[in-house]
Amino acid sequence: LNSDPPSSEPQASSDDCFWLRVAIDVPLAGLFDYRCAHAVAPGCRVIVPFGRRKLMGIVVETPDTPSFEAKQVREVDEVLDDLPPFPSDWMRMAAFAAQYYQRPLGEVMLPTLPAGLRKVTAYQGKRSAGGPVRRLDKRASKSSPKPIQAKEAPALNEEQIQAVQAIDAITGYKAVLLHGVTGSGKTEVYLRAAQTVLARGRQVLFMVPEINLTPQLEQSLRSSLAVAAGPDSLAVLHSGLSDGERLRAWLRVQRGEARILLGTRLSIFTPMPDLGLIIVDEEHDTSYKQQEGLRYSARDLAVWRAHDRDIPVVLGSATPSLESWAHAQRGNYLKLSLEHRARDVELPVVQLVDTRRLAMQQGFSPQLIEAIQGRLEHGEQSLVFLNRRGYAPVLNCGSCGWVSQCPRCTAYTVLHRAGARRNYLQCHHCGYQARVPASCPDCGDQDLHPMGRGTQRVEEYLAELFPEARIARIDADSTRLKGSAEALFAKVHAGEIDILVGTQMVAKGHDFANLGLVGVLNADGMLFAQDFRAPERLFAQLMQVAGRAGRHVRGGKVIIQTDYPEQPVYQALVKHDYVGFARYGLEEREAIGLPPYAFQALLTAEARELATAIEFLTQARALPEQSPDAYYMASAITLYDPVPLRVLRVANIERAQLLIESAQRPALQAFLAQWSVSLPELAGGHRVRWQLEVDPLEI
Ligand code: ADP
Ligand code: ZN
Ligand code: ZN
Repeated sequence: LNSDPPSSEPQASSDDCFWLRVAIDVPLAGLFDYRCAHAVAPGCRVIVPFGRRKLMGIVVETPDTPSFEAKQVREVDEVLDDLPPFPSDWMRMAAFAAQYYQRPLGEVMLPTLPAGLRKVTAYQGKRSAGGPVRRLDKRASKSSPKPIQAKEAPALNEEQIQAVQAIDAITGYKAVLLHGVTGSGKTEVYLRAAQTVLARGRQVLFMVPEINLTPQLEQSLRSSLAVAAGPDSLAVLHSGLSDGERLRAWLRVQRGEARILLGTRLSIFTPMPDLGLIIVDEEHDTSYKQQEGLRYSARDLAVWRAHDRDIPVVLGSATPSLESWAHAQRGNYLKLSLEHRARDVELPVVQLVDTRRLAMQQGFSPQLIEAIQGRLEHGEQSLVFLNRRGYAPVLNCGSCGWVSQCPRCTAYTVLHRAGARRNYLQCHHCGYQARVPASCPDCGDQDLHPMGRGTQRVEEYLAELFPEARIARIDADSTRLKGSAEALFAKVHAGEIDILVGTQMVAKGHDFANLGLVGVLNADGMLFAQDFRAPERLFAQLMQVAGRAGRHVRGGKVIIQTDYPEQPVYQALVKHDYVGFARYGLEEREAIGLPPYAFQALLTAEARELATAIEFLTQARALPEQSPDAYYMASAITLYDPVPLRVLRVANIERAQLLIESAQRPALQAFLAQWSVSLPELAGGHRVRWQLEVDPLEI
């Protein structure tokens, strides 16, 4: 596969037909050849026969001769001309992603498109007798601009001015790491930088990690960028949109009608003819990593795309990923810092409460309870953060030790309260649900009690303690209905809530004006996960949730309850010392040879029985020894032993993985390219499902 821009004019190769090499969304490597009676440009969509099916494809090349016997090459059914061909930079990025993440090109290209553009059924029967082509224009123009309330932009402070000027001055490609403490006004920097780019007639891609962040930001964007780019210049893309909404937004961006695209990770694949700046807010956030199908990092692709388009990309965070930080330290990225909060408030005081010798009540230390009481008296809001939903993580029998377990997974079932008699046990891995048994299934004893606590139980306890307080819970359960998250957040913003209990959903992005106190329960649970990135993630998450405190009110405070106050993660948090934590973290990674000083891939196998998965991985691991010539780069590669996953069985499927590592990215890439060719056949013999992930975030 070549990454050159598609050639301009396809050549007629024989008297009466043209050859098309087409990418199709099927799990087979390579491209597929078809013939067509007339010339078709690369980047066009075609409907092609594939076996007995009709599939959507994208023309990638127009070769002079087909790759197999001409007589056997089938004819395309239809060439779609409802869209101009995909631009060459879009084709290049798809080709890069396919090659880097080791996936067939069609499996990269097609799934990135709105359903209306990739589903053959959307086209069948849509043509009238005369064949006028289905019009996309009408559907696209049906967007209703919301009225804009112009908001007065604050005068930038000195740090912000310097950052904006530095970004404005960039010509061509440059990756910028904007490191700013929580509340330092990074958003304002993005907005000003975006305004400059819009005023130059270019488009801006503004990426955010999650949907629940967008409503607030969408308002800011609309009001502050409308001036630079016109009232209807914003498009929003995320997975919560309907197919029609998504198609309309995509088309407006692709045509250049929308000048700003605000979106989650999937928006990185939107064609943008005038792209002039990419912003990746909260660049460390793991939501930028797609966890199924093409397991891409939208952050990494953003940097690649900016480089390819020769434009700046701004990665912003209070706690940059150690990968990005290392790039900045080496001078690959331009580092800009905002060290102070933008408003006239100090960073919150972080207090560690050593819980080892304390009499705890329902998971609360006396210090935390007193602090909440104090905030209530002052009419300020408190946030209690606990990254565990449900009532209790497990139900337990006091007399025989029985615990509630999922029959299909190696995991406990979580107790959920849903009102009298409607309580249930649920597995958070596979979704399995069961009624709560009236007595112990093993010994018949009725002494069943919940062990540990989740957000529901915390909410219940707080209601007992503070009967006067208005309490709300925000987690995946309380926000299941469409619009309910927005409604709950609106109540918090409107000051109708005194105490907010929540999971990581509440940690991100929100600028709660009246929130003075943050309490963190059970942080240690994340500290000793096997994953080497656990401390980094914990630090980022706690920094972020701590950053919700005292953004507008003075005297903001964070209380972290822990059994291990001496741990470096917690010590760094007390000092708000990301830089120190990053230095320590990178030194440690370098000493043991972990990313970003090494490059990794993960081969995961799933089978009915663990032994089958392990056997497949063992044989995959042995492939290089069997053909050393093909694997000339193998000496630079470390293949670890296959191991079962931490949660071994999910939905009756057992899983194991094999870690591949190298100090050199090109060697790893060359190895994976070679290796992945042999894996499908090997897997077929073992009845396993497998997937290869490049740059895995969790190992
Ligand atoms: P961050 O994204 O860095 O955590 P925000 O961009 O949310 O911070 O800004 C924090 C708060 O400070 C917001 O309420 C924002 O409106 C305000 N703010 C930003 N810049 C300024 C400024 N120059 N002067 C006053 N307030 C500002
Ligand atoms: Zn029992
Ligand atoms: Zn389960």
